[in-house]
Amino acid sequence: MTVLRFENVSKQYPGGHQALVDVSFAVDEGEMLFVTGHSGAGKSTLLKLIHLSERPSRGAVLLGERNLQRVRGGKVALHRRQVGVVYQDHRLLTDRTVGENVALPLILRGTRRAEIGKRVRSVLERMGLGHREKALPTQLSAGEQQRVGIARAIIAEPPLLVADEPTGNLDPTLAAEIMELFAGLPERGTSVLVVSHDLALLKRMRKRVLVLDHGRLVDDISPQDLAE
Ligand code: ADP
Ligand code: ADP
Repeated sequence: MTVLRFENVSKQYPGGHQALVDVSFAVDEGEMLFVTGHSGAGKSTLLKLIHLSERPSRGAVLLGERNLQRVRGGKVALHRRQVGVVYQDHRLLTDRTVGENVALPLILRGTRRAEIGKRVRSVLERMGLGHREKALPTQLSAGEQQRVGIARAIIAEPPLLVADEPTGNLDPTLAAEIMELFAGLPERGTSVLVVSHDLALLKRMRKRVLVLDHGRLVDDISPQDLAE
């Protein structure tokens, strides 16, 4: 099953040059991959097209069977619930506890309270934060805050999780820990797409890597091709 598909996608910003040029690729269920490339290569634009904060100028983006071209108006919010997002700066609500932050996607869905409590505890446990449910985000370390961001992104079990430089603010050891958490998600049914320009990390992870260069997809490297 294909979770995400880009079909000949180009994006030209008004007045700007081409951010993406004829980009095609597919992500399978249970797959984890990276997107890399120089600054300005088009990585953020690719994420924005998935999240529908931008629209392609040409081509199509499909999430599962759904052509996102047809997702308009009030349906955009529904679409966004199907994509978990992890940000570099994690964007946690600082006046809510860790548990309340993680619960948000389920509250939006109208999940029952008792069920929410159970799932919050379970996902925090998985992220190694079982003891931090009542803490405020500001009381946590950078690595812990990022793990809360991941917990919030996966609690509703989206088919796809996207992350934009999720380890950009972390030292190499913490970055590796966070990446291992991402790597464990596909076996639970969530495909993972991570934007990163940390080449050392990409090599170590041995996952598929898409390389963007001036908006073009110039390489699609399979894990077997990644040398030591
Ligand atoms: P990356 O995330 O790889 O750094 P971006 O997707 O942010 O690349 O940018 C790709 C290109 O599109 C760059 O040349 C950038 O200047 C341009 N760009 C990005 N956002 C906009 C925008 N809102 N308006 C005009 N040009 C933009
Ligand atoms: P269907 O899949 O047959 O469209 P659903 O029950 O999945 O039916 O969706 C009900 C309504 O919500 C439909 O109008 C559908 O287009 C919209 N919808 C559901 N999920 C999404 C999504 N991920 N993105 C956009 N719209 C959605």
